[in-house]
Amino acid sequence: MKEYTTIYINGQWVKPAGTDTVEVINPCTEEPIARVCMGNAQDVDRAVKAARAAFPAWSSTTVAERAGFLTKIANAMAARQNELGDTIAREMGMPQALARMVQAGLPIAVLNVFVPLLEGYEFEYAMNGTRIVKEPIGVCGFITPWNYPMHQVIGKVAPALAAGCTMVLKPSQLAPLDAFILAEIMDEVKLPAGVFNLVTGAGSKVGNAIASHPDVDMVSLTGSTRSGTLVSQAAAGTIKKVTLELGGKSANVILDDADLAKAVPKGVFNCFLNSGQTCIALTRMIVPAAKQAEVVEIAKGTVGLMKMGDAFEDGNYLGPMVDAAQQRSVRAYIEKGVAEGATLVMGGPEQPENLKKGYYVKPTIFADVKNDMTIAREEIFGPVLCIIPYETEEEAVGIANDSPYGLSGSVWSGDLDRARRVARRLRTGQVFINGADFDINAPAGGYKQSGLGRERSKYGLEEYLEIKALIGHN
Ligand code: NAD
Repeated sequence: MKEYTTIYINGQWVKPAGTDTVEVINPCTEEPIARVCMGNAQDVDRAVKAARAAFPAWSSTTVAERAGFLTKIANAMAARQNELGDTIAREMGMPQALARMVQAGLPIAVLNVFVPLLEGYEFEYAMNGTRIVKEPIGVCGFITPWNYPMHQVIGKVAPALAAGCTMVLKPSQLAPLDAFILAEIMDEVKLPAGVFNLVTGAGSKVGNAIASHPDVDMVSLTGSTRSGTLVSQAAAGTIKKVTLELGGKSANVILDDADLAKAVPKGVFNCFLNSGQTCIALTRMIVPAAKQAEVVEIAKGTVGLMKMGDAFEDGNYLGPMVDAAQQRSVRAYIEKGVAEGATLVMGGPEQPENLKKGYYVKPTIFADVKNDMTIAREEIFGPVLCIIPYETEEEAVGIANDSPYGLSGSVWSGDLDRARRVARRLRTGQVFINGADFDINAPAGGYKQSGLGRERSKYGLEEYLEIKALIGHN
């Protein structure tokens, strides 16, 4: 079992002041794979001081210098892409081939996208007699989840570096190992000391210390809506900027003229990617009541194509839940769905027959779901699809928008203009029209309780910039 006994502060691997440790468990085997040291508030303070000291020089670098570092980091990650993917597969259970492509591939692509974006960004311009100057916000604190651990980290680190900010990262304690690889890469590319600091630890200690630290200018969390509230409360005392990427319960609105043979399988694969542990998963499939039976048959057939099992066994699409608590929680939601009267089409709360070990949950489909049922309102974060029937387009839009969340969504129609019209009515940060693929250049973020702010694109960069007006400058 690998031991991680140091954290990365001011360009050095140092022993934390915190004395706790945490075991990282492979959720496919339930075996511990690593022991990781946990920092505390003192470690956060030390990391923030390093980030503060590094800020004047880093914020004064040229765009070309920062773009150069982004490229070097992307290249170094690409050189270790398989190792990165395999590490994530081991710590959170996504099948290896998918993990290499998605978990490791996406963040590399995001870093590369930020290079031309940064080079083309207008940091200064004239507005009548005033000159507008965009400046880096300062020292940033990042708190990230386990489900796409490196993708969520890079969603913050890339724009922050591009803007000229310095930072302290606290990754999820369930899947922290990939963050150590990133810190090694920062060291290898000789990013100036203090620009990037890694402090592992618990949310309630290290995360809270970051959010409440008076010398952190901005805190950005990706995680559950509950953690978003706690981070906002902790940050409020020091009036720092807060950005939040939180949960979702996204609607896949399939209109009555849609091609079901395309719309349903695409929606099902999306919902079950990463075993449903995806913030933008389309977990509510909203379908014409008259076509529900047909939808159910296609959905069942699609799930039938998905193999579930160990991350390192070829051909699997589905892995386990990240840990025992998540498995218990998802099973309890399935039981609740049955108790509240939804029709269990396939799956269920029992351990899959062929997988005695591992935190697996059977891929589960519910039909006849009403939007006020718990399984339609709360984020389950497991392989559970809710099929919700409707009678009219108006009702379908109403159901889609009747959610505390507003992260993502999808609309399918045989008439593109109709799909576009309905897409505009959804109160969410993204809407995928007629099965459009994930767009790495598009901004992502939530309306309502799905968050504050955006990641990726120029809007993601601008979260890390202050706006200064030099009046009388021009
Ligand atoms: P989580 O909220 O349990 O943990 C996220 C991070 O917050 C972890 O690092 C955790 O240690 C930290 N944390 C917990 N309590 C804290 C506190 N009091 N103060 C400071 N930090 C604290 O979430 P998770 O289970 O790791 O991830 C799953 C959740 O993340 C889901 O709700 C999912 O939808 C969401 N998510 C959202 C996006 C997005 O882009 N909107 C992306 C991925 C995941």
